[in-house]
Amino acid sequence: MENPGTVFTQISDFLDYLGSDFSGTISKLSKDGLDLSPKFPFLCSRHFADLIKKSSHPEALLREVLPLTVEREKVPGFVDDPVGDLPAGKSDCVIQKYDRRALIVSTATCGVRCRFCFRKNYPFQNGPDVAREVSNWLDTHSDVWEVILSGGDPITLSPGAFRDLVESIAAHPPVTTLRIHTRLPVMRPDLVMQHFELLRELPTRFSCVLVSHVNHADELDDESAALFAHLKICGWTLLNQSVLLKGVNDSPDKLTALCRKLFEQGVLPYYLHQLDHANGVAHFEVSDERARELIAEIRTKLPGYLVPKLVREIAGEKSKTPI
Ligand SMILES: *Cc1c(COP(=O)(O)O)cnc(C)c1O
Ligand code: SF4
Repeated sequence: MENPGTVFTQISDFLDYLGSDFSGTISKLSKDGLDLSPKFPFLCSRHFADLIKKSSHPEALLREVLPLTVEREKVPGFVDDPVGDLPAGKSDCVIQKYDRRALIVSTATCGVRCRFCFRKNYPFQNGPDVAREVSNWLDTHSDVWEVILSGGDPITLSPGAFRDLVESIAAHPPVTTLRIHTRLPVMRPDLVMQHFELLRELPTRFSCVLVSHVNHADELDDESAALFAHLKICGWTLLNQSVLLKGVNDSPDKLTALCRKLFEQGVLPYYLHQLDHANGVAHFEVSDERARELIAEIRTKLPGYLVPKLVREIAGEKSKTPI
């Protein structure tokens, strides 16, 4: 089980840990009211709390994890299944929207509950045996060449369950690329390390891509740098996707700093996502017009290979949609 203090599930414990230095920032953030009993429960790691403490923009990182009462507001156009996962579900844990590529909802668990989460309202229903279910599905889908482990966060699986899942995929030779989407390098680097033995050997079996989910430069520290360096040496391709979030990273300086810091740690910016319109996230919305301006501006400050693609996910489309 968790070491005591590895994660905070109570907002009050989290605020106590941050200490009185943060009371000004928090009262500024929570002028609309902290939600002490949010429908999407609070969860944040001690590691991320330490990043907040070290950050020169603590309010940006705090916004990502602190529940506010504005999340309760119903806003037209913001719905429970904004990306059309439910119609695309092929079994309880396989989602296939795109040609010859499949996404596995590996687990319902994350290392954090991001307040802007697009799966805030997703009715996770993993059976006890994801590995068997994925294997059965791949048996009848021999055209699938890329399998994406998402979630929840696949790195929250136990090392045994994670290995079972990967082995069940490796037993299907048409699958040549394994991709993992995870926020844990910046939220729970300790959990990533638990899987290191397996992560190290995977590039001998698949082309391996790790897509980290990092939204702000201050989420990256020496621990994430060490993790990424290890993965890179083992042969992983390292990419990052961010969500464009009001009050977190919606300025040219913040985006430029993020892209440069990612690159310093060996990671290339891949996507900058426009927010998925899940219920309870409207206060993070940045308009498409502003998003295009931001990308145009960072393009003048960064080499082309550090400019992420600005996209949105539109339910029913055959790929992410460029904006
Ligand atoms: C986003 C997504 C992918 C991956 O799309 P890329 O554009 O290749 O990053 C695959 N499957 C599903 C269901 C997705 O939502
Ligand atoms: S890590 Fe991703 S899936 Fe998990 S709570 Fe955050 S946004 Fe949602």
